[in-house]
Order: sequence, then C-alpha cells, then structure tokens
Amino acid sequence: MKTIAQIAAELQGYDPQSLPANAVLDFLQRLVTPVTESTHQPLFDALGKVLSADVISPMDVPPHDNSAMDGYAFDGHQLQADIPLKLRVVGTALAGKAWVGSAGTGDCVKIMTGAIMPAGFDTVVPQEIVTPRNGEAEFIVIPPGMLKPGDNRRLRGEDLAQGRPALFKGQVITPARLGLAASLGLPSLPCWRPLRVAYFSTGDEILSLGEPPREGAVYDSNRYTTFGLLKRLGCEVIDMGVVKDDPALLEAAFRSAAAQADAIITSGGVSVGEADYTKAMMKKLGDVAFWRIAMRPGRPMAVGRIASETIGSAETSGTQKPGAVLFGLPGNPVAVMVTFLAFVRPALLQMMGCTDCAAPLLKAHSQEPMRKKSGRTEYQRGWVSTAADGSLQVRTTGNQGSGVLSSMAEANGLIMLHHDQGNVAVGDLLGVMMFDGAI
Ligand code: AMP
Ligand code: MG
Repeated sequence: MKTIAQIAAELQGYDPQSLPANAVLDFLQRLVTPVTESTHQPLFDALGKVLSADVISPMDVPPHDNSAMDGYAFDGHQLQADIPLKLRVVGTALAGKAWVGSAGTGDCVKIMTGAIMPAGFDTVVPQEIVTPRNGEAEFIVIPPGMLKPGDNRRLRGEDLAQGRPALFKGQVITPARLGLAASLGLPSLPCWRPLRVAYFSTGDEILSLGEPPREGAVYDSNRYTTFGLLKRLGCEVIDMGVVKDDPALLEAAFRSAAAQADAIITSGGVSVGEADYTKAMMKKLGDVAFWRIAMRPGRPMAVGRIASETIGSAETSGTQKPGAVLFGLPGNPVAVMVTFLAFVRPALLQMMGCTDCAAPLLKAHSQEPMRKKSGRTEYQRGWVSTAADGSLQVRTTGNQGSGVLSSMAEANGLIMLHHDQGNVAVGDLLGVMMFDGAI
C-alpha cells in the first residue's frame, strides 16, 4: 500500500497547488485498490453489482435448433429459383416439445416460434408467405425467390456455446446480463461485495433537515446529492449526518467512518484559509494530501486514507491496516457533484472491481459561445438535445455559480471543457458527461 508521499513522488510535475484534472485521476488510480471479498448473489440481488469471476456457459443457448417464426418447417434444399414449391403438411410442432413423427422430401411440419426443428429440416417458411391451395388444406405452396435454405431457423448454441465465457469478471451486472444468467439456468452470480461508503457534511452553518432556519445558515444539500450519486453506483451508504466544527465530534466521526467503511466522503472545510478543524483532523488521523485542482468549479479537495479507531493513528506505524480512502470534497453544492463525477466516481468504480465502467463522453455541438481559460478543466451544466438535422447539440443551463444547484437540477449532463481548451465558439464540438446512469 503506497503512501501519499510515495504516489506523489511517482507523478511527474506533481504540484498540489495546481493539479491538472488528469493528474488527479492518475493519482487516485494509484491510491485505491479493489475489494477482495466475493459472494454469490441470487439474481434478484445481483443487479448493479460487479462480477468477481468469468461466468462459463454450462449449456448451449438455445439448446436445440428451433424456429424463429410461426410457419412451416421443411428441407430447404428443395427450393428452386423460379419454381414454386408445393409441400404436404404432415404434422404440427409446438413450442416446448419435440415433434414425434417422420417427414421427408415433399413434406413440411407446421411449426410455432421456438419449437424444435424436426430432424432433417433446416428452413422455416413464415406462414404469411405461403399461399393456401383451394380445397387442399393439407398442402402449402411457397412462392419462388423468397427464401434460402436455413432461413428463419435459430441454431443450437448461436446465442451462447457451452464451455465458453458468457459474462466477464469486472462487468457490472445490467438487466441484460441478469437475463443472460437466467437463460443459462444460473440462480446466482459471483459478485464482489458492495462498497461501503460513509459520508458526512461539515460546517457550523449547515442545518440538518428538520432544524428551524437560522440567519446565515443553509440546509445541508450535499448529503442528499452524495447519497443519490452513491446509490446509483450501487454502494452501501452510511449517512453520518452533519458534523459541527468541533475537534471531538470530528474525530469521533472520522474514526467511526473509517471503522465501518471502505471510503469516506466529506464536504466542506477543505478550502485554503478555512478556519475550522476539519483539515487539522484529517491530518491528525490519516495520510492526506490537500490539493488545489486546476478546475472550475471545485478547486479544493483532500485525498488520502484515514485510520479507524480500532487500528490507531496512521502516523504510528507503516504496517497497519490501510484504513478508509478519504475524499474530502469542497463545500459548494455544485463543486461536490462535479468533483464526485469527475474523480470520486471513477475511483469508487475501481474499488468496486469494475473494469468496463468508463462513461464515454458524448460529442455535441455548442449552441452558444463560452468563455474558457486555458490551463484548467471547466465543467458547465448543460442540456443535450437533438438538432433539426439529427446531430446532437448542447446549451448551458443558466447561472453557473458553484453554489447554484438549480442549474445542475436542470441539466442532463456536464460539459467538459478540457485543460488546454480556450474559448468556445458556436458549433464547436464539446464532450459531455451524461448524467443518465450516474445521476
Ligand atoms: P466551504 O468549502 O466549507 O468553504 O463551503 C463553501 C460553501 O458551500 C459555503 O457557502 C457553505 O455554506 C456551502 N456549503 C458547505 N457545506 C454545505 C452543505 N452540506 N450543503 C449546502 N451548502 C454547503
Ligand atoms: Mg466551511
């Protein structure tokens, strides 16, 4: 387990006073480690968890060649380019059981979708394209040029072949993957245990819901946005409330959080010149870096590890349990969400054991000019929509102040203006981190 100083020494040009966003990501990637305990989860409990092993298909899916349509099964080699094919109907194959009977050249079997193909038959003519013959109910005629041998037949194992991996370690279990596991007859899946994340807000001016309003005080919104973001990630959350600016209370909160959780998220109290005890307590209880990130909004952030009450202070020995990863986020409500989405989310996904979770940036044309300073990453709250010509376009959603949550609530994504980018002109292609799935 590397210390903050060791990781810092590995990074070229590490400057905690002005850290580029990609250096933050690089740092966090070196800091966090995936969980190691795995359990089997019944399918209904596995949604959103991360697979801890490849899942090998125990069978072919589908288990038999079967019909993809309601129609008539026959031997497709009899089809000829310009001559209709007349066949005698000798039976009916229903889904769920094999047709017992014998059929050969000149014969066909009426067949339902999903029914097993009769032996020797490889093609299904959909019932809509056969022409009924007057007075000859037991015959069908297939018009020429409409079918090839093998049409409308699903092959055994075409979805999944026995013995081949069907799902992969590190994948998040999505609804489709749940269905796939069920189609293999698997009642449970191997999953990494969910991450436990504790969070609290700090600041004497922060009110919990239910407290009467007070001049100069604001209701705590950060715990609610953090709760929502963590839940969407599938984390187990430990809500530790608002912690007042008091050394004893802060110490108790940090120690208790570190004892219970894999990660701790705090908000507030990490700005430069902050006249409170939060930073001092982080320093006392853990191995923590304090950064000013070259970004907007969300400059200050503290990152490191906090030791729990059961293992004592990290200062005393290098051989202790690592403690919980700390993400000390700024206080401003939008800065909390932006730093979470930009940095905390990828780090938590890595801790969850997820290997296919990178959220791709959508590219959309800017509908407005934007002022942007080169040398820092800027995040703007945006609304992506489809333009008349079918391309994607994005506009900002009003006041972009770092405390203004209403423009965040109106947005469907975060426009990412990268470190080296200058001013934006109308029509420029911008990367957008969409909230769907994350928010
Ligand atoms: P700080 O980072 O502690 O200086 O806080 C920056 C701003 O964010 C201040 O205006 C705080 O009042 C506000 N703030 C801090 N924590 C919260 C919170 N939990 N909910 C809402 N606003 C907050
Ligand atoms: Mg404060």
